[in-house]
Amino acid sequence: MKAAVLHEEKRELEILDVATPEPGPGEVRVQVCSCGVCGSDVHLVLHRTMRATHYPRIPGHESAGIVDAVGPDVSNFKAGDRVIIAAGTSCGKCKHCLSGRFNLCPQVGVLGFDCDGSYAEQVIAPARLLVPLPESIPFEHGAILADCVSTPYHALKFAGNMQTGERVAIFGCGGLGIHAILLARALGAAHVTAFDVDEGALQNARDFGADAVVDARSVRSVGKELKKLGDVDLICDFSGYYKNITDSLRALTPGGRAVMVGISSGKMDIAIPALMIFKQLRISGSYGCDSRALPELVELIADGKLDLSRSITSTHSLEEVNECLHNLDERNGNPVRYVIDPTA
Ligand SMILES: [Zn+2]
Ligand SMILES: [Zn+2]
Repeated sequence: MKAAVLHEEKRELEILDVATPEPGPGEVRVQVCSCGVCGSDVHLVLHRTMRATHYPRIPGHESAGIVDAVGPDVSNFKAGDRVIIAAGTSCGKCKHCLSGRFNLCPQVGVLGFDCDGSYAEQVIAPARLLVPLPESIPFEHGAILADCVSTPYHALKFAGNMQTGERVAIFGCGGLGIHAILLARALGAAHVTAFDVDEGALQNARDFGADAVVDARSVRSVGKELKKLGDVDLICDFSGYYKNITDSLRALTPGGRAVMVGISSGKMDIAIPALMIFKQLRISGSYGCDSRALPELVELIADGKLDLSRSITSTHSLEEVNECLHNLDERNGNPVRYVIDPTA
């Protein structure tokens, strides 16, 4: 099969012919029809700020396709089934995995980092990570559900316990943050404020339904600006700039929540712990999604409550993957999501 392969010493993917993998017990082979190009792929390939567990490695973790072979013991999927492949990998045996909360697994990993991923004509995945994709949802929408949409969904709904009618603030409007705006709207937010430092990202935030957008470079304090616009119930950070969270605790209503998704090496200094106690605020982390997110998202789309028609910037062949990584890194053309179609 054709695959985009990352060698340890290279800062680009090589399109190579590699052996087509065979599914083992409990595994399924999927013909990849669409795979999203994620910021973490830019970190893995171009910046080397993230690493794979083994090289050479085929990256790609946001994918959907058609089952083309099943291994022994797989009875719930058959060749020809349309599926989404969840991006997170896990042991499948611990108490968290058995309860469906596989993003809490001590062995949690990511497809394309901890095993070969979907920048290839075919990929192997455990059957337990597959979610059926209805005919009515195109493969590219199914693909981006696997991370770009499910990660902010888990952050808002499960880590952030978002309720209908709440006021929400989103920090960072890249691929994940922009979908957090769309999802906050779909979940019935009364008001959404979005912050970023890039004019194109702020324009995308408007297009995806933010009521107010703020260029964080133009204000002295993100927290004071937020308070001016009106207190919020839930803050979701995709930027990894933790000062914005601590600055904004004063703008949280009693019982308010702040959810951290963006990862950085920055420190978090909470200057007003008493305020957290009196207002009973909660700061929590959110990583990936558990077994609830993908089926619920498929249902939201089927019910017409979530529309991903503006999410795909353009579709590219496997040979164009390096160009997509560079364009995403440099924000050329103000992308939301590029997707790769290995069948093209
Ligand atoms: Zn990703
Ligand atoms: Zn586990």
